[in-house]
This record gives sequence, C-alpha cells and structure tokens, in this order.
Amino acid sequence: MPRAKNPHFSVVVPCYNEGACIAELTSRLTKVLDDCTGTHELIFVNDGSHDDTQAKIEALAEADARIKHIRFSRNFGHQMALTAGLEHAGGDAVISLDGDLQHPPELIPELIRYWDMGYDVVYTVRESNQGHAAKEFVSRAFYWLLRKLTGVSVPTGGADFRLMDKRVADALRDCDERFVFVRGLVPWLGFKRKGIAYQAEPRYGGSTKYKMGRMLSFGLDGVFSFSIVPLRLIAFIGTVTIVLGVVYAAYTLAVRLFTDTAVSGWTSLMIVVLVFSGTQLLSLGILSEYVGRIYEEVKHRPRYVIADKSESLGRTGTEPRR
Ligand code: UDP
Ligand code: MG
Repeated sequence: MPRAKNPHFSVVVPCYNEGACIAELTSRLTKVLDDCTGTHELIFVNDGSHDDTQAKIEALAEADARIKHIRFSRNFGHQMALTAGLEHAGGDAVISLDGDLQHPPELIPELIRYWDMGYDVVYTVRESNQGHAAKEFVSRAFYWLLRKLTGVSVPTGGADFRLMDKRVADALRDCDERFVFVRGLVPWLGFKRKGIAYQAEPRYGGSTKYKMGRMLSFGLDGVFSFSIVPLRLIAFIGTVTIVLGVVYAAYTLAVRLFTDTAVSGWTSLMIVVLVFSGTQLLSLGILSEYVGRIYEEVKHRPRYVIADKSESLGRTGTEPRR
C-alpha cells in the first residue's frame, strides 16, 4: 500500500519527572524529524510530574507550534500516558518513545524507511540492558513466559519505542480496556510487522521510574490482561490433586482394613494440610487477580484525567472516547 506523499508524523513521548531530559530530547528529535520528508507534531504527555517538566514543555511549545502537550491531573502510569498520546495523535504514522533519551531519536528515519516499505508496525528490540545481567535475565524469562501463556508473539526486550501506521493506532484506540499493556496489544493486533535492533543508551538525566515493585505490577498486567492460562492452571492443579488424593485415600483405607498399624503419623497429616492450603490460597490469589480486574473494568471510570492540553490537540486529534 503506497504511503502518503507528504506524510504527517505524530511523535508521542510519555514524561514523568523528565525535566532534565526534555530540552535535549526535543532538540535531537526536531533535528531528526526536520530531516525527514513530511511534517510532524510532537506530543508530550506529562504524567503528573512533580518537577519542572510542564514548564519545560510549555516553554518549548511556546517557541514551536508543532510541540503539543497533554497534562494529566495526576500520575496515571506510563502505559496510560502512551495511550492518551495515541488517542490525540493525528499523524499518518505514530511514533512513540521514552522521554529519557534511552531510545535514540536518530533511529526514527530507519523506522520511517520500513514504514515506507509497507510495514505497519516497526518495533524496536533492545540489544542489551546496559550490563544489568539480572534485569536482562528476568526480562527474557518474563517475555518467554508471556509468549507461552498468551500465544501472542510479544518480542523479548521490546520497548515502547515503535512506529505504528495510522490504521494500527486506530485499532489500538479501540482497545479501551483499563489495564493497558501496549507491548502485548500491538502484536495482538497483527498487521505487517518488522523488528529492528537498537542499542539502548543510558538515561540522559533523572532516574528510572520502574523500580522493582512497579516492574512486577507491569509484568502482572501483562500476564493477567492477556491470558486465562493461569485460571486453567488452577483447574489442572486441582485435578492432579484430586487424583493423588484418591490414590492416597485408597492407600490409607487399605492400611486401615488390612494391617494393624493404622494410627499413622502427624507428619503426613501436616504435609497434606500445608500443601493443600497453600495450593488453595494460591488459586484464590489468582482468581482474585481476575476478579479485581473485572471490578476495575465494570466501574467504567475514565482511564485517565486530563488537567489541560494544547488547544490544537482538541481540534486535530481524536478525542478519547471516555
Ligand atoms: N513514565 C511515565 N509515567 C510513569 C513512569 C514512567 O510516563 O509513571 C515514562 C518515563 O518518563 C519515561 C518512560 O515512561 O519516558 C519509561 O520510564 P523509565 O525510563 O523510568 O523506565 P526504564 O527505562 O528505567 O525501564
Ligand atoms: Mg528509561
């Protein structure tokens, strides 16, 4: 499918306390985008920052009408910021990248080149995690598990640095679920995809917002919003338990009937009680994850709240449905 002659690109950047990076990021982005054919808009989504992020963005927007902003009323999380940006993007293709310069803007022409060649999603795969061996291992294991559980080919080392054709972005806008895991949704949507490798740079300034706890919750969102396999696993464990239980019951009955050593020990009883109650609690925990998510979905609250945004976004972009 031929692409537009003079394409318009939307670049979406979620920012949470990225005051230290905004100016440098903008200058690098603008330089790269000015060299590309077509026009662009830069949408910064300020996810409830406490630092000078908003002031920095507004100062830049003042000087360049192509720079736009959305300011959340509080912190709603990276994935929500990404979603809000997408919902307001009016480009023929939407590019998203982090605000900390770990995703080199200089790779954008390459993303665009593949889009021009007919790919609808051009995603990037981080080549290494800056020597954090443990983080790298956990991340590999997680994406492997996610692929196994969901059957969706979520790439390992995937980052939210990608280009999506307008049609993909539109389809993504239609996924209005509360627990958004963009990295899983994009491959789930399908379309013609191309992955390219890149070397992640160290953070330009500021500090990471993904500490251990948040990474865990991000991972759980990935699993529980994409897969019912954990629920099936409960049924499977239950079945195995019942089979084992019946065999053991038959054994105890045989001991009772045919031998006189019937008063068996406290140990075996304790083991059975502990193992079974553990299994039950785990199963309940898994069930509650889903119940909790259903609860969040049925409340039907808005997914994020915008405190203010650039006027031009209201006119050119798609308004969020809720
Ligand atoms: N981010 C956000 N809201 C949050 C946490 C992070 O918008 O609640 C943004 C952050 O500003 C950055 C991107 O998401 O642009 C990725 O976060 P970070 O660089 O801290 O993650 P890491 O690269 O360390 O995994
Ligand atoms: Mg980062």
